[in-house]
Amino acid sequence: MGHTAVDPLIYLDYNATAPVRPEALAATTKALMAVGNASSVHAGGREAALAVDQARERVAALLTCSPSELIFTSGATEANNLALRSAATPGQSLVISAVEHPAVTEAAVAVADAVGGTVHTIGVHRDGTLRLEELEEALATSPALVSIMAANNETGVLSDLDLVVKIAHEAGALVHSDATQLVGRLPIDLRRLELDLLSMSGHKFGAPQGVGALFARRGIVPAIRPLMYGGGHERGRRPGTLNVPGIVGLGAAADAAARCLDQEAARVRLLRDRFENAVMTALPGTRRNGHPDRRLPGVSSLTFDGLPADAMLAAMPAIAASEGSACAAGAMEPSRVLLAMGLSRDEAECTIRFSLGYTTTDDDIDSAIRHVIDAERRVHAALYPTTTTASGTAQGQEGPRRHDA
Ligand code: PMP
Repeated sequence: MGHTAVDPLIYLDYNATAPVRPEALAATTKALMAVGNASSVHAGGREAALAVDQARERVAALLTCSPSELIFTSGATEANNLALRSAATPGQSLVISAVEHPAVTEAAVAVADAVGGTVHTIGVHRDGTLRLEELEEALATSPALVSIMAANNETGVLSDLDLVVKIAHEAGALVHSDATQLVGRLPIDLRRLELDLLSMSGHKFGAPQGVGALFARRGIVPAIRPLMYGGGHERGRRPGTLNVPGIVGLGAAADAAARCLDQEAARVRLLRDRFENAVMTALPGTRRNGHPDRRLPGVSSLTFDGLPADAMLAAMPAIAASEGSACAAGAMEPSRVLLAMGLSRDEAECTIRFSLGYTTTDDDIDSAIRHVIDAERRVHAALYPTTTTASGTAQGQEGPRRHDA
């Protein structure tokens, strides 16, 4: 799979992207081997349109919404942009949180600029949960839209969307949630949770990359304002020939995920907890970021005391994990999300996100624990040659830099 130096690769980067599910691969391959534009009226076109209809039903079943409330997009970035653009009203503000993905923060700034509005940003507590008192204050400005992510991509911290929806609706605002990291990993019921708009992306739960959807509740969002000009596809809300292979892959991945959502979440949570407990016991300076319970089951954000994440990751090439978020990797700035939670720059730079998913096995976790502990020992020895490692192998007088909360 393109990794030759160390084999096998232990893939713990599900929040960046998930391996394609066999069901999605089969559905996408079948669609790629057929010919037909879903808008054509001949047999090939009708077959493509039927496959798209079935995929729409499958995604709707995963979200518990109506198929007609879904607009297929190229992913969550586009869905977020479409949601914010559609909900913005001239002169009214938008409320977002400080830990949103750039696909929300950047879109919010652009949309607010375009309608002469402002963006209010709500902070988070040290555990990554929303500062509700700040949300209450922002709601006093009568915003058009509140956009709060369902689960954070770096820490997995879950938002209390029931509460956000309740108080935002009381204030007359529409509510959007970027649920990219939640959909396909934990159940969500849009009959019960009264969100107006929700963004999702297929590649986080086993569909091919480049396909996602926006849920827009029927009768609630005044009008979807397309981002592009073109044909009347997706009821005039998203022009362009439908990405049939991607869409049917999304449907198949949604169906496969829905079949074992609870069991899979419980299994992954056990693996994640075993990984965290073993690493934190062996390396007592290691700290876990994010609320211990209100988190996605597969995410572990760990700060390794005084050991930069890039050095740690280089010392464990068999493991695929991320420093901060993959979207920010390569940039010199430490994670915005971790800084918003009150971590220092040093702490943020010493943080690795491990994210597990449906292919992660017990053996993966056993090996990952060994690799992390071994990497800590080697990076520590390289950076602090005369000191004792957290795992207690070298001799010396001083420990690494300590960071206070
Ligand atoms: N929102 C969140 C929370 C994400 O994690 C991501 C993917 N990193 C996106 C949006 C963007 O999704 P996509 O890749 O489908 O555009």
